Amino acid sequence: MNAAVTTELKLIGHWIGGESVRGASGRKGPVYNPATGEQSGEVDFASSEEMDRAVAAAKAAFPEWRKWSLSKRADLMFRIYQLVDEHREDLARLLTAEHGKVLSDAMGEVQRGIEVIEFVCGIPTLLKGEYSEQASTGVDVYSIRQPLGVVAGITPFNFPAMVPMWMWAPALACGNTFILKPSEKDPSASVLTAELLKEAGVPDGVFNVVHGDKVAVDRILEHPDIAAVSFVGSTPIARYVYETGTKAGKRVQALGGAKNHMIVLPDADIDMAADAAVSAGYGSAGERCMAISVVVAVGDAGDKLVGAIKQRLPNVKVGDGLDPASEMGPLVTRAHRDKVASYLESGPAQGATLVADGRETAPEGDGFFLGVSLLDDVTPEMDAYRDEIFGPVLSVVRVGTYDEALRLVNENPYGNGVALFTRDGGVARQFQFDVNVGMVGINVPIPVPVAYYSFGGWKNSLFGDRHIYGPEGIDFYTRTKAVTSRWPDPATSKVDLGFPQTR
Ligand code: NAD
Repeated sequence: MNAAVTTELKLIGHWIGGESVRGASGRKGPVYNPATGEQSGEVDFASSEEMDRAVAAAKAAFPEWRKWSLSKRADLMFRIYQLVDEHREDLARLLTAEHGKVLSDAMGEVQRGIEVIEFVCGIPTLLKGEYSEQASTGVDVYSIRQPLGVVAGITPFNFPAMVPMWMWAPALACGNTFILKPSEKDPSASVLTAELLKEAGVPDGVFNVVHGDKVAVDRILEHPDIAAVSFVGSTPIARYVYETGTKAGKRVQALGGAKNHMIVLPDADIDMAADAAVSAGYGSAGERCMAISVVVAVGDAGDKLVGAIKQRLPNVKVGDGLDPASEMGPLVTRAHRDKVASYLESGPAQGATLVADGRETAPEGDGFFLGVSLLDDVTPEMDAYRDEIFGPVLSVVRVGTYDEALRLVNENPYGNGVALFTRDGGVARQFQFDVNVGMVGINVPIPVPVAYYSFGGWKNSLFGDRHIYGPEGIDFYTRTKAVTSRWPDPATSKVDLGFPQTR
């Protein structure tokens, strides 16, 4: 008998107007436990009408919510911080159950999300405007920041708790109401988040979760009452969301895919570089937008580096994310695992050297596992170099000089993250000046900025002007209003048709 039929499925519904709501469209999607390959749940897919109901709830909640004083909103953000902090393991366990990442990594994801909540606890300071006294005689000019209204977030499968936090925490703190459309592959963390926000005291309708697929996303993009959309996901969908949303008059930030290079110069400490390449290439099974996908070995670093990486691979423990001994879990779906594994065919067929084949080292069973895999002698025209892959397949490209390495990175259509490993401060400084990538690591393989900076790539890794969270996140979720004010003596008033003077 099929295991999927005998297991009792968890039913995952929407969260609209402060309560759990079962979907009415009749459309659903499966949710899997990637470690066993079994279906564990079923998530409702919204119709356009269901999305409209969520938008109506968010719109109705907005006028009261935006009136909340800054101190009251800051107080609430502290309560949210405290509750999420108390439930960090509950969230992490949901991530492991539906995404597959190992529990320690899931705890790390929650931590990086909580740091954004912590940042927006300072919202009274973050929303301070500017004031110019006596801009003209007797005239003062000042600017204030106001929320946009109803805003939406559309999120990817790989960070089911953290990426939503990057969006809803600043959006709510700025006084907006929010619709979250999480990934349909691992939707449960969003529902727990909604319950925690309600428990913290977030008014009904201020935070809503609507599950679904393209139908739900398209309704967000066209809905006249949604003012802004934050998106994180793959580049083709990011481009689509940006183009469609901005055409409908919305403010859009759409973060896309990545192909992150780690350049290792001949003077780098090879053991340190190899440790970093293994950690950043295979952590979270390579399903991180900031994962290292390509190691660029410069000059004579190549042989030593490939040897050092190869030596470390048998020690990487692949297994069920709930097993504390596991360092790398399965991939998110069977289809994705098979696609990732296909590069172990196409790579060698196109001339790469297969140094480690993860198909041979994957744990037995029906889980969506692939072991750590290494391709050497990869060149820029190969599929393994051109495609994002998004799995535990690390490629090594060998080049002769620093300039060749820099050119490779700058010519790549993605520009999310990049790392340089060297002991030469002068070269590192020149690199940060020259490289066309949004987030740069100097001897840091995954340079995700802390919560009080902003996160975002360049080129095909981001469509829109503003990066996510940090100061640019506050900018994204607010608009400024400039007020010019004077309190003259009415006795001095006269008609003057001339152009207003500022002196
Ligand atoms: P995805 O683009 O398939 O899905 C992202 C969201 O878009 C999901 O909510 C999904 O339901 C929705 N979606 C999917 N297809 C759609 C369609 N045709 N029309 C409208 N909506 C659609 O991405 P994913 O596979 O969930 O996530 C992995 C991707 O996300 C990778 O490319 C990764 O690099 C990227 N990512 C980028 C960042 C970043 O910060 N730049 C962060 C995390 C993930």
